[in-house]
Amino acid sequence: MDKGEAKSLYIHIPFCHSICSYCDFCKMFYNEKLVSSYLNSLRNEISKYYQNEIIETIYIGGGTPSSLNCKQLDILFDILKVIKTSSNLEFTFEVNVNDINESLLKKLKNNKVNRISIGIETINDKFLKLIERYHTKEEVLEKINLTKNYFDNINVDFMYGFPEETMEDLNNDLEFFKELDVNHISIYSLILEPNTKLYINNIEPIDENLESNMYFHIIDYLEKLGFNHYEISNFEKNGTYSRHNLTYWNNEHYYGFGLGASGYINNIRYTDTRSINKYLNGSYRLEADIITKELDMENEMILGLRKIKGVSKTGFLDKFKCRVEDVFDINKLLHKNLLQEDKNYLFIPKDKLYLSNSILVNFIKND
Ligand code: SF4
Repeated sequence: MDKGEAKSLYIHIPFCHSICSYCDFCKMFYNEKLVSSYLNSLRNEISKYYQNEIIETIYIGGGTPSSLNCKQLDILFDILKVIKTSSNLEFTFEVNVNDINESLLKKLKNNKVNRISIGIETINDKFLKLIERYHTKEEVLEKINLTKNYFDNINVDFMYGFPEETMEDLNNDLEFFKELDVNHISIYSLILEPNTKLYINNIEPIDENLESNMYFHIIDYLEKLGFNHYEISNFEKNGTYSRHNLTYWNNEHYYGFGLGASGYINNIRYTDTRSINKYLNGSYRLEADIITKELDMENEMILGLRKIKGVSKTGFLDKFKCRVEDVFDINKLLHKNLLQEDKNYLFIPKDKLYLSNSILVNFIKND
């Protein structure tokens, strides 16, 4: 096993100006005073745990990091000054469409951010109302064009599988996303998670077969536009893979700082508390589990098979000093065509990607 040095760093900013009806993330309403105390605590957490490694990717997510005002953003970037970064740093910042303006973009650019991720989800008025997000087609186009004046690496989030969504609705959204002409797209189906407004209101989910047809239709559509489908939910052009997310899928080490964040350092996977009071009092960690070699091998497969390319068999052998076939019952999965192999890679066949969760559980050993 590698020695567990971090190469990536995630920071969670849990504040939002409005709360979306489907949201299950760790978030709360923006409150100016609370943000200041939170940033203080974040600074302390980083100085307590960061071990001076050179970091190759930073991702600031949320919540809504762009909900912070100008002064708070200055404090956040000041906190990050202690982090040693590689000359080839990938630095992603999540922004809400409504927050985009020249001064925000300039500030991000001046503070080494070089990748922007924007949660657009849909431009269908009916579905925007349902998920309680508010933007128009015109606003999105204007904000994306403005962002392109400062950044050439832009991800947009695309959501599908809304209740009563038709293929025609889906195509309208896809055509609009095509118009945006960005280099990276992440797709998600709407999941009705317990404790969300949609779930409590008993909103009926979309039919599963239709949802699966939509998933394959999106893949087909984006591939025809020249996107490379490189992970179950992610598409890129011209090699602009999310290097940060690849750290996760490659089962490599990273810090997670902030409320509810998780990290993997020195062979320990940990999660931070979701209680703002505990976090502000400096009681950061909720749980921490030692990752044994067995668990590490499971994670290598469960995370690695999310990549369309799959898991390298020689890579597995180098890392764990044993063959993947000797650890897992690969033959059973190959036989059922739930896995395929080429010379060196094991991967989930494209037509089975929709079933990936039920395939990946085969790598969890219960003993
Ligand atoms: S989906 Fe994002 S913007 Fe909406 S409430 Fe959740 S964290 Fe905030």
